[in-house]
Amino acid sequence: MVCCKAMTKQNILALSLTEMEVFVETLRLKKYRAKQIFSWIYKKGVNNIDEMTDLSKEDRATLCENATLSHLQIITRQKSTDGTEKFLLGLSDGNQIESVLIPEPKRLTLCISTQAGCTLDCTFCRTAEEKLKRNLKAEEIIGQVLTIQKETPDCRISNIVLMGMGEPLANLSAVTEALQRITSPGGLEISPRRITVSTAGLVPQIEAFLNGPVPANLSISLNATTDTVRNQIMPKVNRLYPIHTLLRALKKITLPKRRRVTFEYVLLRDINDSIEDARRLVRLTHGIRCKINLIPFNEFSSSPYRRPTDEQIKQFQTLLHDAGLTTTLRKSRGRDILAACGQLQGTTSTHINRNLNMAAPMGYQSPEPIAAQTD
Ligand code: SAH
Repeated sequence: MVCCKAMTKQNILALSLTEMEVFVETLRLKKYRAKQIFSWIYKKGVNNIDEMTDLSKEDRATLCENATLSHLQIITRQKSTDGTEKFLLGLSDGNQIESVLIPEPKRLTLCISTQAGCTLDCTFCRTAEEKLKRNLKAEEIIGQVLTIQKETPDCRISNIVLMGMGEPLANLSAVTEALQRITSPGGLEISPRRITVSTAGLVPQIEAFLNGPVPANLSISLNATTDTVRNQIMPKVNRLYPIHTLLRALKKITLPKRRRVTFEYVLLRDINDSIEDARRLVRLTHGIRCKINLIPFNEFSSSPYRRPTDEQIKQFQTLLHDAGLTTTLRKSRGRDILAACGQLQGTTSTHINRNLNMAAPMGYQSPEPIAAQTD
């Protein structure tokens, strides 16, 4: 009996403010209660209806009977030697995802997942070994932020990157709904300028996202300068949208003033890290208001790929810089606990990345500018 009742309960994390207003009215609560509930969830961060003390006891009892408010379950929490923390989170159906918290002197960035597993099959990414389990719901995307913010009460999450498990633009409607709540004044109120959505390059969805309601930053994982190599390392997406289709679409887009697209480029030793690649990258991106974010490959034991030498990375970076491209090099964060870009998998793993030389961690990762960024 209890179980049946629980199944009919509304998870109020799934509701927008307008939907919450309709919901409370159906429970015969006053419409303005919706705003108060929103404030308890998003401003005060409670995860329990009983804590909403400016609601009358009766209203709280009615809500408890008909609604649930539960954050995600923290299965494990691992801390890197550099302060980065990886959370393995459990969803209500048993699936698991990972989120990564990256403290920096002036910001606290949370890297969140948008799918359990991933739609794509990029051969250099550990998440791809998982295959797609399912898309996350909007409340599970927001739930990552709320759950982890509650765990770090002394410091507010200032930036969010959708660069964890999954392809955000393959789950565009849930991502848009979540971002609306994350950015809205009644919600978490994080500026869209502090949010970055990263895509492997789904062209129609890029256009839909840029015409959508949340003007967040967009990063495109280009990762290769020829279709031969891109087909090899990002087979699914590049067969659908080869390099020229992707870049042609980006050239046509009118970006908001002072905004640039970021091209992410994972540097894989002897695959895409040559000086010819760097020269092609300059040519390919000509005519697009952009910056380049180089990500030296983050190694994991089942991968055949290797990170280029520091010398090779420097040469690549210098060529782009000398050609006038704003180029940043991502500093690896959390590689020792497999929390860096492309190392997430959503499994309970006690595996620690021991085969890496952690003395000089490079590879999320905050961008280190080598040329001044103008915006
Ligand atoms: N699917 C989205 C977001 C998830 S991946 C996308 O493709 O953009 C986030 C970033 O990590 C992408 O730029 C991806 O190319 C990069 N990445 C994936 N695996 C990596 C690895 N092992 N080392 C370094 N970067 C990696």
